[in-house]
Amino acid sequence: MTLLSNRLQAVCQMVDENTRVADIGSDHAYLPVELIEQKTAQYALAGEVAVGPMSRSKEDVEKFGLSDQIDVRLGDGLAVIQKSDKIDTVVIAGMGGILITDILMRATDEQLSHVKTLILQPNIGEPLVRHWLVDNNFQIVDEDIIEEDHHVYEIIKATKVDKATPLVQAQYLMGPILMFKKSPTFVAKWEHKLNGYQKAVINMKQAKKIDQEKIDLMNQYIKYIEEIL
Ligand code: SAM
Repeated sequence: MTLLSNRLQAVCQMVDENTRVADIGSDHAYLPVELIEQKTAQYALAGEVAVGPMSRSKEDVEKFGLSDQIDVRLGDGLAVIQKSDKIDTVVIAGMGGILITDILMRATDEQLSHVKTLILQPNIGEPLVRHWLVDNNFQIVDEDIIEEDHHVYEIIKATKVDKATPLVQAQYLMGPILMFKKSPTFVAKWEHKLNGYQKAVINMKQAKKIDQEKIDLMNQYIKYIEEIL
């Protein structure tokens, strides 16, 4: 039986076979455990900045007899990765886009030396994450969107390339692959947002002090969403 939520299962499904994975901000280390038990990953590293979850995860990994294939390390972001770990896939899930991009920005060339794939699941701020990826030559190759407990989560998978192709604004906002797949969850998310933006524009136009710049931005979003839906 899996310990994973639907959200973490969707993240897990993005991981390629025979990989060496670092799960940064792993908390309970459920993802590394699942990746090793399913034999998707050869090796997994659970990185965690908080002492409590790190110690509990370490105990669990030992209890399950997985210490040969999973290392649990205390540390900030990618600082837990050593070159000799030969990590090729980094997962960062369940945090805001600002924190995810901050962690990635602080990564050194050595920590990223073997990394070919990033799998990121921001709880919020997906456009920021897509901008970071493209600006740092990671091409988005897959995306998923799932709903769990009344929250919609997007998962973005990107691979290292020599020169990433820039996206257009609507793709940064809605996701290049998600726009193409147009799943029912995607459509429901953007219909809901469209409704919110349309109401906001009506309210802003009735305000005492009209913020035309904000109205123009909302109208731009409305145009993108209407075009895609
Ligand atoms: N990744 C798991 C998931 O998706 O269910 C846990 C997400 S939990 C909300 C975020 C975790 O990231 C927390 O355990 C937190 O301590 C950890 N975290 C936050 N900032 C971090 C950083 N700079 N480096 C490593 N871990 C961090």
